[in-house]
Amino acid sequence: MGIAKNHDAEAAATEADMNGLPLAFVDVEDGFSAEVLFKQGVSYTYDDLIFHPGFINFPTDAVDLSTRLTRNIQLRTPCVSSPMDTVTESSMAAAMATVGGIGFIHYNNQPQVQASLVKKAKSQRVAFVPDPVCLCPWDPISHIDRLKETKGFSSVLVTEDGKVGSKLVGIVTSRDTDFVLDRSTEVREVMSRDIISAPADASLEEASKLLIQSKKSLLPLVTESGELSELLCRTDLKARRENPESGSPSLDANRKFLVGAAIGTRESDQIRLKLLVEAGVNVVILDSSQGDSIYQRQMIEYVKKVHPQLDVIAGNVVTAYQARNLIEAGADALRVGMGSGSICTTQEVCAVGRGQGTAVYKTAAVGNAMGVPIIADGGIANSGHVVKALSLGASTVMMGSFLAGTDEAPGDFFIQDGLRLKKYRGMGSLEAMAKGSDARYLGDKSRLKIAQGVSGSVAAKGSVLRLIPYTLHAVKQGFQDLGTPSIRAAHDALRSGGIRLEVRTGAAQKEGGVHDLVSYEKRRF
Ligand code: 5GP
Repeated sequence: MGIAKNHDAEAAATEADMNGLPLAFVDVEDGFSAEVLFKQGVSYTYDDLIFHPGFINFPTDAVDLSTRLTRNIQLRTPCVSSPMDTVTESSMAAAMATVGGIGFIHYNNQPQVQASLVKKAKSQRVAFVPDPVCLCPWDPISHIDRLKETKGFSSVLVTEDGKVGSKLVGIVTSRDTDFVLDRSTEVREVMSRDIISAPADASLEEASKLLIQSKKSLLPLVTESGELSELLCRTDLKARRENPESGSPSLDANRKFLVGAAIGTRESDQIRLKLLVEAGVNVVILDSSQGDSIYQRQMIEYVKKVHPQLDVIAGNVVTAYQARNLIEAGADALRVGMGSGSICTTQEVCAVGRGQGTAVYKTAAVGNAMGVPIIADGGIANSGHVVKALSLGASTVMMGSFLAGTDEAPGDFFIQDGLRLKKYRGMGSLEAMAKGSDARYLGDKSRLKIAQGVSGSVAAKGSVLRLIPYTLHAVKQGFQDLGTPSIRAAHDALRSGGIRLEVRTGAAQKEGGVHDLVSYEKRRF
């Protein structure tokens, strides 16, 4: 399988033949190769570009999206979550690993806190909730109303002191509370004490069987002495069964989730790195908006000297020159993007950066020649952007806003103008920098803090366990339309000129979206 003859060209040639024109006179060259298109001195974003369809000779399910995150780490899924404090903590990292990708835990926190988040993510088991929200028997049921609003669930476990690790005493579901008018009624008055549970060491298979048989929505796992240890939810089980791409998670040699973490390039980050390594981190990412610096070179050197087994991702970069510098310094992968993020104001404030399509293509050309994978970071708003990033040479995509509205992102949901939202902020926003992230923007020593990002909100999107598999299915359809059955095949076709593309005018972009309707509903899946 591979990219094959172009349909249109074949049809045109046949028609020309029938009209009596010699085939040699028919121009079957259509569109541009990436090499020609990106030589024009214009910076293109994903939306500027459109790919020509290729020839389909394989089914969608045959598309292979397995890829390389770094020189030494393979992933089944080409998606990674960004090290931002409104995107990746332990739940997101565990969920991303569950779907075959990886999450990078942010470092806008104390080193010990970050290391504990890595440890927590690594200790989670596929599909089990390690720290379910609990109530204590004396809590009013209005607390459940609040949980429904902020977390989205209405079935809650009740333990003696309201924490995991203490004795499980009951379960409350919406059926217990729906018709209770006095919301100050204590949970113990309505909770069910008749609990079906599984032993703490039950496997997923054993626990799933029990949960299905019980016909309940929750299955708590308890120790021999009755303390709550984990939780299995019916909705998570259903999501695993129904999702088109559920498969093997990203695990390390010890069968623990693969987890990444961000660090900076200061001397103090050496201590952070040590704690992260002790916590079992599998890969670190040097977090900087402009990565081609002496500081990154020194940090790469340090990581390689002290932890030679640990892969280090450097960046961010957007030019071939920057990419070569960091690869020569020893980077195991490059994070690419400057000013393309949804919350980002770098190009406006500092006048540097590049359209993300061009940045990915140019850096990937160097990465490919030097054997180092590229992470296309920022600007991913839909599955089409993922297809474009991967087909322009990236091996994975890093996402912030795309994941910030999921259940697994840090923070609570809130309602605004009738919409269910979650907070999402740039790490270069004044708000995030006030918490410490200014190192990313080289501003921690200066008295004046200049924002390179904004704070905002994104719509609720449900669970990563559903969002990523469905997105990947759409990405596979894109690869099928392109006629490229794998990321590697797409990269080969890109370089051989087999992938043809064009720039879209403003009108063509408008035409390519939904248009001329009075109203419509856009459902993702
Ligand atoms: P998104 O997926 O939301 O489009 O972009 C996320 C990416 O934007 C992050 O992975 C990171 O590279 C970048 N980023 C995060 N916060 C900021 C910020 O405050 N300013 C800038 N310039 N970039 C940011």
